[in-house]
Amino acid sequence: MSAPFGLIGHQEVVDTVRAFAGHALLLYGPARVGKRPTARLLAALMNCERGVAVGPCGACRSCQGVLHGAHPDLLEIEPRTTTATGKTARRRLIPVAAITEKRDDGREYEQHVIEWLETAPTYARKVVIVDGAEHLNEESANALLKVVEEPPHRALFVFLAEEVQAVLPTIASRAARLGVSAVSDEVLARALVTLGEEDPELLAFAAGRPGVIVERAKAREALHDARVLVEALSLGMLGALEAAEGLEKRFDPRWHPEALQFVLRGEEMHVRAAADRALQRTLAALEQYVSPSLAFQLLALELREALGAA
Ligand SMILES: [Zn+2]
Repeated sequence: MSAPFGLIGHQEVVDTVRAFAGHALLLYGPARVGKRPTARLLAALMNCERGVAVGPCGACRSCQGVLHGAHPDLLEIEPRTTTATGKTARRRLIPVAAITEKRDDGREYEQHVIEWLETAPTYARKVVIVDGAEHLNEESANALLKVVEEPPHRALFVFLAEEVQAVLPTIASRAARLGVSAVSDEVLARALVTLGEEDPELLAFAAGRPGVIVERAKAREALHDARVLVEALSLGMLGALEAAEGLEKRFDPRWHPEALQFVLRGEEMHVRAAADRALQRTLAALEQYVSPSLAFQLLALELREALGAA
C-alpha cells in the first residue's frame, strides 16, 4: 500500500474529486481523517505536467512542488495561532487580513487570497485550500464571496471543515460538499505494518483516521502524557497538581483532550461525562486568556473529583 501525497485509503474520495468539475468544494470530516492530503492531491492533479487524465504523477516539477509545500499555484490558509503582538492567540480565526491586502493593516500576511488570485497560474490552475473553514468569520467570508462565486482564471477553492453546520452559509451554500469518513482499521493496520510497526492501542485511538498514523509520534506522546496525569490523579492532591503543571507545559489542544478522553474510555459513563465537562471548561478558559496554570490546576481537581479520588 502506498501513500501518495500522504493519503492513506480514501480511494472513493479520490475518484470523486478526480471527476470534480466545479470551482468550490467543501470537504468535511473528522480531524486528521485525511482532508488536507485529499485537497493537496487535487491541487497536484490539476497542475500535473503529465495531465489531469493520468496525474498526479508525483514526479514532475509541479507534483514535486506540491509535495514539498512550495507550489506557485497552491495557497493554503488556516486559522492563525499567533497575533501581531506575539502573544498566543487561543481563539482560532481566519481574519479578513488573510483574505485581502486592503484589510491587512498590520502587514501580517505575506500573501492574500484576493491579490494572489489576480495573476495567472504558472502551471494550469490555481488552488486555494482553506483548512478550518469553520473559522472564517463573517467579515472574512464576505470578503471571499466574490472570488468564490467568480474565481479569476478558473481558480479552485477547497474548503475543509470538521462539520458542515459550523461553516457560514455564505461559503457552505456555494460549495459542492463531499464527506471524508474514517477508513477501516485494516487499512490503517496495513499502513502501520508498511512502516514496520504494530500498535493496537494507536489503531484504537486513530479510530480510522489516517492522520493519527502520519503523526503517530505526537499521538503517542499525548497518550503517554494523559496516562501520566490520570495515574497521578489517584496519588493525592499534591501529585495531581504537579502532574497538571507538567501537562500545562506540554499541552497541545489538538491532541491532549482527545488523548485524555481515550485513556478514560473504560470509566463509567458519568465519570467520562464529568471529565468531558472539565476538559471543555479548561479549553474555554484557555481561549479567554485565563491564567493557564490556574486552568490546569482546576482541571486536575475536577478530574480527581470525577474519578472519585477527591
Ligand atoms: Zn505530476
